[in-house]
Amino acid sequence: MVDNWLLCDFHIHTNNSDGELSLQEVVDLYGRNGFDVIGISDHILDKPRLLMHRYKNEQPHAVEPEQFGDYLRTLWHESRRAWEEYGMLLIPGAEITNNTDGYHILCIDIKEYIEPSQTVEKIVNDIHRQGAIAVAPHPHRGADGNGDALKHLWDNHEKHVHLFDAWEVANRDDLFTAVGLKRFNYIANSDFHHPRHIFSWKSLLRCRKNVEAVKAEIRNNVGVSIYLFREDKAL
Ligand code: ZN
Ligand code: ZN
Repeated sequence: MVDNWLLCDFHIHTNNSDGELSLQEVVDLYGRNGFDVIGISDHILDKPRLLMHRYKNEQPHAVEPEQFGDYLRTLWHESRRAWEEYGMLLIPGAEITNNTDGYHILCIDIKEYIEPSQTVEKIVNDIHRQGAIAVAPHPHRGADGNGDALKHLWDNHEKHVHLFDAWEVANRDDLFTAVGLKRFNYIANSDFHHPRHIFSWKSLLRCRKNVEAVKAEIRNNVGVSIYLFREDKAL
């Protein structure tokens, strides 16, 4: 990868929620493609447990509260393998998904279950209490017609801007120019659900390859850039 920059993707779903690949397959795919840092972010859902966007007709499939301990243990286990086999840092995370009021919140370096039915402020507070990072994903998705249910964070961005450590300036193929224009802290992620989604916007971070350095760089948001990762053009 570019010298001294880490190739990162912090928004990845596995078949522990609504992604297609198993965690092991995700690690191998990203490892083979030369990634430095990945954050796994399977959905945890409020009640009633429905995944509204894109999958509204499907059965809900997410990490249930009672499965959360096993979810984390599996991530820790794969994290060790990712490091040993690929030199890739795997950071446990979750997409805290409130479909009643329409907001998703990405947590990077989650350590304990967080109840998604709480207010945005309480969820972000819980994230920060764990020393984790709170990101507003796909903040004003809506142009494609299926994002109206997810507009809550953007509709209230004046109120929420200082709560979050960063906002997604790009999600998969979409660029959210308003995040850049407003000079919010930003990162870019794939919102990976299918293997083809690896070819999409990513974050580059200029920092050492460990969890605390990565979190500090997202918070400082100085050595951050975005990168369109494409087939055959990537490395
Ligand atoms: Zn989402
Ligand atoms: Zn997602």
